[in-house]
This record gives sequence, structure tokens and C-alpha cells, in this order.
Amino acid sequence: MRLATPAGGVTPNGSVARNVISGAIDPSKKVDSPERVAELDEYVRTTLKAHEPGMSPLSPIRVSRRMTRTLGSYRPDKRQIALSSRLLAFGETEHVEAVLLHETAHAITHHRDEKASSHGRLFKSVCRELGVESKRFVNVPIGAWGSRQRYVFTCPVCHSALARKRLVRIARCKCGTRLAVQRAARVAVDDGGRVVRVEGYARPRGGG
Ligand SMILES: [Zn+2]
Ligand SMILES: [Zn+2]
Repeated sequence: MRLATPAGGVTPNGSVARNVISGAIDPSKKVDSPERVAELDEYVRTTLKAHEPGMSPLSPIRVSRRMTRTLGSYRPDKRQIALSSRLLAFGETEHVEAVLLHETAHAITHHRDEKASSHGRLFKSVCRELGVESKRFVNVPIGAWGSRQRYVFTCPVCHSALARKRLVRIARCKCGTRLAVQRAARVAVDDGGRVVRVEGYARPRGGG
């Protein structure tokens, strides 16, 4: 089973202009939307069914905005995988899958032996079973993420959605309005400048 790749999102009126994003942010594109979390949970459930059928289902995946350096984690006490919202917004499907499999390997390892060391022998053999690298860190090229990140906010006068590479406090809209940015959606765009994922919302420092 593969996770779906982000839908190419042509906006309702088809605009792909570089600094203007048309239409409202689609809530289903949020990285922690119920649809997206269900899809991730299903990926884990299918993996467990194939490799550890006797194991009861894990708690629903938690999407964390605070995980900036760590891409994923597993908490045995809660039987819960957490994933970084940045990974889900900016990561390629194969990298999301690799991190999910790594954390699922932790869950299976803990299920087989509660005392097994976290990246030890048993973990490595579980990783081989799942067909994922058994290294401590999943190799994800996060350096490329910045170029796909935009901050999107709406002009209060003409209601255009404006996109900037940085979270600015003040922006000038093409309609001539000079506006103070109160809140912006942090999104991932594809090569055509279309929004493929919404990571969350941010407020400029000192703004508002
Ligand atoms: Zn690990
Ligand atoms: Zn405007």
C-alpha cells in the first residue's frame, strides 16, 4: 500500500500565478485533517496486519507542530506514533512512509520484547522484515523543504490570497492595499506554485 501523493490542486479558478494563490485554503489539505490522519493510520494498520497480526491497533497518529528536528517518534506507554507536521507538509511520500515504517518498527519491537533496546538487534531485524533501513535516523533531505514553503494570507480589501516566502508583517497587495499580516497559513507548494499541503498557521512576530 502506498500513501496517496498530494493532489495537484488546480485552484477553483485555475490561477497559478507566482505570488497570488486563488481561492480559500482547502481544509482537507491540512496535514492533520481527519482524512489525512485516517490515511496514515490505515497505512500503519495494514503494515501491522501483514507483519504482526496478533498486535492490537495503535492509538491514532498524533501530528505535532513542535517536532521540528525530530520527524517521528513512538511512545510505548501511549502506543502512539507522532509525526512532525513539517514532514507531512513538505516531505515526499516515500519519506513519510519511511518514517512511518521506522516508528512502526519501534512499536512491533516493543510488542515483541518490552525490554529490547530502541535501536538494537531486535529493532534491526524488525526493520528488515518491514523492508526499511534499520538506521537510527531516517535519511530525509530536509534542506529542500524551505524552497517549497510559502506563507499565505488574504487581502482584506480585494480578498486575494497572497503568498510570500517569508512571514512578513506588512505586505502590499496588487490592488494597492498596504496590509498588516495578522495570521498566515504555512503551506507547501508544488513546482507550479499550487498549494499541496497546509502545515498550520503562524503570526508574524510583533505583528497583530
Ligand atoms: Zn528510532
Ligand atoms: Zn487586495
